[in-house]
Amino acid sequence: MKFLSRSDEPRRSKTPIEYESTVALPSKTVEGVEFTIVRLSFARRMELARGVLELSRRMEFQRAGEGIDDSIEANILSCEIDRLYLRWGLVSINGLMVDGMDATAELLAEKGPENLADEIVAAIKAQCGRTKKLIAAFHFQFANQAAWRCGDCRRNGLEAVRKCGWLPKDAGPPRAIWARRHVATDTCPVSYITAESIALVQEFHAWKLLGCADLYALPARTVDGFCVLERELRAETDNGEH
Ligand SMILES: [Zn+2]
Repeated sequence: MKFLSRSDEPRRSKTPIEYESTVALPSKTVEGVEFTIVRLSFARRMELARGVLELSRRMEFQRAGEGIDDSIEANILSCEIDRLYLRWGLVSINGLMVDGMDATAELLAEKGPENLADEIVAAIKAQCGRTKKLIAAFHFQFANQAAWRCGDCRRNGLEAVRKCGWLPKDAGPPRAIWARRHVATDTCPVSYITAESIALVQEFHAWKLLGCADLYALPARTVDGFCVLERELRAETDNGEH
């Protein structure tokens, strides 16, 4: 199986990338169950974002109210968002029957073991979060880094405007603070991007330059990350910028 192009190949080579769009995970809460969830692609991200945004707006609106009914309503909406993640992100479940039927996302949400549903939602969210942060880290390399030093922001009183993530949680409505191409963050990008993502981007560049590490010897998470980064890099190359 050939995964990614190495740096010694022509820059504009169109070797197809073999990319698994799903990932299978063994359950930690229900023994013997394995579930398969989607990875975050650009189109899927748009689809999920639209659904979550609409539900979130309703939820924020409810939370703004003081009454107890509103908070109950907000909880219901929060469950609806989880269900949306489940329907969107769960491809299949192996080793689980619900009322004599093979479990599906719908059945699991309706009648399945709640801890398994929670576990799967958490896995989907983690998968999304990691990928989003990694893509943001990739694109932030091309930004004017000097303009985004958190210390300078604080000195200039910009940290609230820029929604620096080091500040206590800000209640304002979400808006794009930093954006490049299809990537946007709704907080200061420096505080959004994790050290893990930055390290992975650096590792990816080293691997592209030296081409020495055997992909099969790398941890699965690193290979996953490289696949995401390779796709972003190819999109850049197709834009004729590198
Ligand atoms: Zn900051």
